Amino acid sequence: MKLREGLYLVGSGSWGFDLSDELDCHVYLLDGGSEAALVDAGGGRNMDLILRNIEQDGVPLDRVRTLLLTHGHADHAAGAAGLKEALGLRVFAAQELVESLAVGDGWGISLGPAKAAGLYPADFTFRPCAVDVELKDGHTIPVGDCTLTVIETPGHSAGHLSYLMEKDGIRYLFGGDAVFFGGRIVLQNIPDCDLQAYLRTIKRLSELAVDVFLPGHLCFSLRDGQRHLNAAMEALTRLGVPPNLT
Ligand SMILES: [Zn+2]
Repeated sequence: MKLREGLYLVGSGSWGFDLSDELDCHVYLLDGGSEAALVDAGGGRNMDLILRNIEQDGVPLDRVRTLLLTHGHADHAAGAAGLKEALGLRVFAAQELVESLAVGDGWGISLGPAKAAGLYPADFTFRPCAVDVELKDGHTIPVGDCTLTVIETPGHSAGHLSYLMEKDGIRYLFGGDAVFFGGRIVLQNIPDCDLQAYLRTIKRLSELAVDVFLPGHLCFSLRDGQRHLNAAMEALTRLGVPPNLT
């Protein structure tokens, strides 16, 4: 689904637009011309639907070379191994997640608690995935004629990253599960969810002057996206916490 020139939504589940498997987060495709990148991988239960969407949007599969993960939760990262294998992708993720992704559970993934809570079926599997490039704050990633900058945005989970891109005077934020439409957030009862880190993340995101707001679920905004980040920040200025989605 084309969002803007060179930007597509190729995966999205039941917390989104049902473009692919119900457990998939939003999977964005950024086409930089000579090469393209996916942001997040979805849950890996029906990769073929994502591949079909890429092709239907007119981007050749062999142009897709990179997978950028926002964080380790299964709806974002369990599909990484399959996509890496199918497309020969290089997988980029936060340094903190490398060991957990290599085993498919643990710190930053929390699959056990998520299954126990009924968020995933008992037979759900997270295929281990090797990370090729370990990311830290401020790293830049070229994708054809686009460049993304890594912003560490912990709080929702450990090793959570956002990716900021400026192109033709427009600022894009691939924000993962940090802040959602309307300024809502997802605090969860899992060991690596960190409220104080989350509050620092919201403050930082409130200073970005984003135009195109591309979160990991629910609605996105193609103009004036900063208002969602500002809405989260307004709750903090009242000594409150933004409304929680869960
Ligand atoms: Zn998440």
